[in-house]
Order: sequence, then structure tokens, then C-alpha cells
Amino acid sequence: AKAAGRNTVGFFDPQLQAAVTDKAALEADLRLALEQDELFLVYQTQHDAQTALTGVEALARWKHPQRGMVSPAAFIPLAEETGLILELGRQVLLQACSLLATWQDHSATQHLTMAVNVSVRQFKHPGFVQQIQETLALTGAKPSQLKLELTESLLADDIELIIHKMEALQAFGVSFSLDDFGTGYSSLSYLKRLPLDQLKIDQSFVRDVLTDPNDAVIARTIIGLGQSLGLNVIAEGVENDEQRAFLAQHGCAAYQGYLFGRPIPAEQLVQFLSLPAAA
Ligand code: C2E
Ligand code: CA
Ligand code: CA
Ligand code: CA
Repeated sequence: AKAAGRNTVGFFDPQLQAAVTDKAALEADLRLALEQDELFLVYQTQHDAQTALTGVEALARWKHPQRGMVSPAAFIPLAEETGLILELGRQVLLQACSLLATWQDHSATQHLTMAVNVSVRQFKHPGFVQQIQETLALTGAKPSQLKLELTESLLADDIELIIHKMEALQAFGVSFSLDDFGTGYSSLSYLKRLPLDQLKIDQSFVRDVLTDPNDAVIARTIIGLGQSLGLNVIAEGVENDEQRAFLAQHGCAAYQGYLFGRPIPAEQLVQFLSLPAAA
């Protein structure tokens, strides 16, 4: 019965078959999208404890010519699986740094940071440090304004190599945030060895922070941990002022979420920052 069941699932389940075909099609489309520059970035603002603007996070978007907007939750894991994340990551970095380069000549923007998400596979690639340095040199963006968001899963193995790479980039002026903190299983003993600047409380803990005592404890623990380690702690997914106030009351130093703004395209961000239009 078991074998038959497996057979059914493997070869005759039309839904699964469709999913497999769909995935292959999506992969082919993503490959094409990367060739034809269909991917672009949107930017979400980040704020300090006084809610002043401190920077933005760049988030990838893909507008498929037929399917319309494809969620990063679908195309980022696919890109990681297929290795396309290397090209995707290269394009993201180039776009983000090109915009960042326009910020340094204006007093209103020269202290803002640009946070860029880096996938595990991308960070582990041997050419990553050089790619960062080259992209900064090519665009003229300042390393001190670039923040890389890494996830805990990066710390699963090769920890010495990871630390070595992070230190090389830190020496170059780049800073680091640990994204989705609390969702993985990073060993706390690693935490103090990593040249981190920031911990990011995952939005899954922020969402119900006012109603779920477990989430409240986790959020407060992360804030306390960050304080003990001398790290800035940012909460993501902050949607209302009650959440912000609760986190502030417990010492959270930075915020990001719909309360402050949704991710917006570059043109809108340029307007918002009152920068002169790009030449
Ligand atoms: P993430 O890095 O944890 O990004 C936060 C996600 O939460 C974003 O989803 C953002 O749009 C969403 N968000 C922001 N504020 C709120 C809020 O107040 N409420 C709610 N409910 N959601 C909020 P998005 O843009 O769909 O990205 C999903 C994930 O895809 C990201 O999670 C990140 O892991 C990945 N991703 C996006 N862009 C890139 C990229 O350029 N490179 C890599 N490697 N991953 C990326
Ligand atoms: Ca992120
Ligand atoms: Ca996150
Ligand atoms: Ca919960």
C-alpha cells in the first residue's frame, strides 16, 4: 500500500505534477528575467528610537510579464536552490549601491545606511568579498553606508571561514545585521565572536508581541541580549504604535515596518529623501 501510495504521489498526482512543471517553468522564467533586467528593488525605511530616519532596506521585486508580481518568498528560495541567487545577488548589490552612491553628497542622506539582504550561498561564494569591494568601487558608494543582512543559517557550518570573511568586510568599513534573529538555531556562543552591529527581531515575534506572552518574552530577551553584547537591536514588521511603544518600553533601539512605511520604488524614495533626480 505504501509503495502504491508513493507511486501515486510520484507520478499520477496531477496537482504535484503541475507544481513540478510550474517550478521548472518559473526557473526558466527567472533565468530570463535576470538576463532582461526584470528584477528591481523597493526600499523600506528604518528608524531609530526617536523614530528619525536612519536608512533603508532594499528588497527585491520581480514583475513577470504574464504572471505579474512574483513574491520573493517564491523566487528567492528558487534562486538559492538553482544557484541563480549569485546573479540575482550581483544585480541587487549593483542597484542598491548605485542608489547609495548618490547619498553621500547631501547632508540629509550622507549618514543613512543601505541594508542589503545576502543569502547564505551568496556569502559563501569565494568571490563575495571581492564582489562587494568591486561594486563599491564601481558605483562610488561608501562602505560605511552599506549594511549587509545575514541570516542565522549562515552560521550552521564553516564558522571560522564566515567570521574571517565578515572581518575582512568589516575592516573595509561594511557593517552587518543578523536578520530573522530567533528563528534559527544559532549558538549563542558564536554571537559574541561575530563582528555584528545589529540584531533584527524577526517579524514573527513582533506580530503578536502584545497578545502572545511567549513572543513578548522572546522579543525582550533579544533586546536584552543585544544590549549585553553592545549591539543595536531593530524590530521588523512593526505595524502599529502599540507594538512600537511596547518594544520601546523594553529598550528596543530601532524599528522598521508598515507603521513607518511600506517598501517603495527608487523614484519614490528619491522624492521622499528630496534628492535631486538622477542625471
Ligand atoms: P526579510 O529580509 O525578513 O524582509 C522583511 C519582509 O517583511 C519583506 O517581505 C517586507 O516587505 C515585509 N514587511 C516589512 N514591513 C512589514 C510589516 O510591517 N508587516 C508585514 N507583515 N510585513 C512587512 P518581502 O519583501 O516579501 O521579502 C521576503 C523575504 O525575501 C525577505 O525577508 C528576504 O529574506 C527575502 N529577500 C527579499 N529581497 C531579497 C534580496 O535582494 N536578496 C535576498 N537574498 N533575499 C531577499
Ligand atoms: Ca532582511
Ligand atoms: Ca526577517
Ligand atoms: Ca506567536
